[in-house]
Amino acid sequence: MGMLGSAVVTAGSMVYLAKRKRPNIVWIFSDDHAYQAIGAYGGRLQGLNPTPNIDRLARSGMRFDRFYVGNSICAPSRATLLTGKHSHLHGKQTNDGGFDHNQQTFPKIMQQSGYQTAMVGKIHLRGDQQGFDYWDVLPGQGSYYQPDFVGKDGTKRVDGYVSDVITDRSLKWLDEDRDASKPFMLMIHHKAPHRSWCPAIRHLEKYDDVEIPYPETLFDDYASRTTAAHQQDMTIENTMYRNDLKIKSHAERDEMFEKMKNSDYEPWGERGAYYRMTAEQREAWDNHYDPRNQEFLDAELTGEALVKWKYQRYLKDYLRCIYGVDENIGRVMDYLAENELTDNTIIMYSSDQGFFLGEHGWFDKRFMYKESFRTPFIVSWPGVIEPGSVNTDLCQNIDWAETFLDLARAPIPEDMQGESLLPLFKGQHPTSWRNALYYHYYEYPSVHDVRRHEGVVDKRFKLIRFYGPDVPDGEEWELFDLDLDPNEMTNIYNDPIQSHRITRMKQELQRLREYYNVPPDSI
Ligand code: CA
Repeated sequence: MGMLGSAVVTAGSMVYLAKRKRPNIVWIFSDDHAYQAIGAYGGRLQGLNPTPNIDRLARSGMRFDRFYVGNSICAPSRATLLTGKHSHLHGKQTNDGGFDHNQQTFPKIMQQSGYQTAMVGKIHLRGDQQGFDYWDVLPGQGSYYQPDFVGKDGTKRVDGYVSDVITDRSLKWLDEDRDASKPFMLMIHHKAPHRSWCPAIRHLEKYDDVEIPYPETLFDDYASRTTAAHQQDMTIENTMYRNDLKIKSHAERDEMFEKMKNSDYEPWGERGAYYRMTAEQREAWDNHYDPRNQEFLDAELTGEALVKWKYQRYLKDYLRCIYGVDENIGRVMDYLAENELTDNTIIMYSSDQGFFLGEHGWFDKRFMYKESFRTPFIVSWPGVIEPGSVNTDLCQNIDWAETFLDLARAPIPEDMQGESLLPLFKGQHPTSWRNALYYHYYEYPSVHDVRRHEGVVDKRFKLIRFYGPDVPDGEEWELFDLDLDPNEMTNIYNDPIQSHRITRMKQELQRLREYYNVPPDSI
């Protein structure tokens, strides 16, 4: 889109890449993988070595440190990655309702330009997928054990743990079914580590004897924040249920089990996961959780001790799921190396948004606060990207579609709203690169009770406007100085010293609304 002059970038890229064959792209993606849970991003969990293979990818390529989403929730984020547009233009503003698959998407254009395209795993946009020579996707949220897959030939159930099976089927396509005369774009999109964070049985004991470090903001009291932070429903303390924590009694679980046999009762939760396990898997599951649950019930914890126990159970299961994704990323990297595909294949890793891992006392996402707004993005491209490099330009998930098209030397439609990241991959920092990002979350009233909000961020300040139902006086504002207050604990919107800055940031917000064609009736 106009800010950078994509025609110039494309021409430059053509010169640079003229001698190279068009690259293959392996686009590995997960669901709700917080950057805090990636070793290469540092932070409090780094010492647990949660992601040795993703770290290996980062060492061979580029880590993006200011990569953000436009709407921190699953389906809208995935619609953005396909279309290169913010939610109000692709029409998927919340998880409810359908996605219009007939609209323009980048896989369709890549296909037209001679790429073979494939999508395996979670897309969370129901209906027949378009723009893919091969698609093999999880229905809805998908299941952790013995998952169903939907493809052109209907639905089938496949034995195994979901992250392993998605990888098996991706490698099978690479090995047996693709047309080796064409470049390919393969999307390997994982369900893990999405709630209810069910690990592979082989990882149940991992981190068992470790105390997971706590975030500084676990017991945030939201003192200077607006109504939205006070009245959400996503705390570990109050909202994380026994189902999430796997502490249902056998009797309760058996009752649900019976219920599920006669209905389509929540197929993706821990209950659904248990229902789909083999007898052997259930036995291993019970052998792990039962004694630990009994110990917990006997202890009768309350207050901070209870929150800490829940945090430990949550983080251990979450990190076990991450470890399963990471192992499978290693399998893909090894496959590419063994089949001499490494040299001309770009491998990318990211997630549909970030996630709160106890920061502010929360789990889930949705807010424009950094843990959910920011998402991990790591790219390896031998011979082009400098190994071990780090980019800190402001980037957003609207940029992916144009980047793929630029890599494919395919035409980039004018109505896509991002920028190609290709110059950044090459280590350039174009002076015309954007200096602010727009964000807009729409799903309220809904699960977790996060108020509607929009906002603008630059490299130093973040301005958020909460609006709509249940926001006092129709709107409330927050301003954060990200240099002085990186954890976003102190809202300085009401500090008179900030008045000029607030005026400037509000002008920037209005400029971005106009630039991205945000309809006035949605703000
Ligand atoms: Ca998600």
